[in-house]
Amino acid sequence: MGLVQNVADDGLGGLEHNFLTGRVEDLVKWSRSRSSWGATFGLACCAIEMMTAGTAHYDLARFGMEVFRASPRQADIMIVAGRVSQKMAPVLRQVYDQMMEPKWVISMGVCASSGGMFNNYAIVQGVDQIVPVDVYAPGCPPTPETLIHAIETLHQLIEDGEIMRRRDTTGAGAQVRIQEVPAGTTTPVIIGQR
Ligand code: SF4
Repeated sequence: MGLVQNVADDGLGGLEHNFLTGRVEDLVKWSRSRSSWGATFGLACCAIEMMTAGTAHYDLARFGMEVFRASPRQADIMIVAGRVSQKMAPVLRQVYDQMMEPKWVISMGVCASSGGMFNNYAIVQGVDQIVPVDVYAPGCPPTPETLIHAIETLHQLIEDGEIMRRRDTTGAGAQVRIQEVPAGTTTPVIIGQR
């Protein structure tokens, strides 16, 4: 208890011998979850909400995500924000293929997830036909709160290893569906709901 109290009072300076132990695997998972950068892939109106999530009010920098990368080689998370046209589908897949492993996909909004109201030949009826989706963010459009909920859930899944277990099981994405979070919600949202 004395050691815990010292750290609580003085931070790492309160450790008498200044060393920590842990598994390399846990450290890798933790660092991956806290340094995931998004690939810029706004396709329609949902992208406005995605951009809003990056503004000062929502501050994605709190989660190590202050930068969206224009280069797929510097990105870990593809946030598909908006409807995917048949013409865009091969481009989206090419960008995904150019991203380095490990990489993850969030399907943002009903259009990306299922075609939404665009039940026609021009729109892909679910981006999971093109890339493996790990987390589905519901809504039209999902609020920035919902997107952050999706991102935090993804981080949790990366950190506890659940995402890899699910991928092994499905042979595709982790396919986690989260709850929609109303705009302006200030009460804590439980992350990692599966
Ligand atoms: S889900 Fe709604 S907001 Fe998002 S792209 Fe479709 S129509 Fe636009």
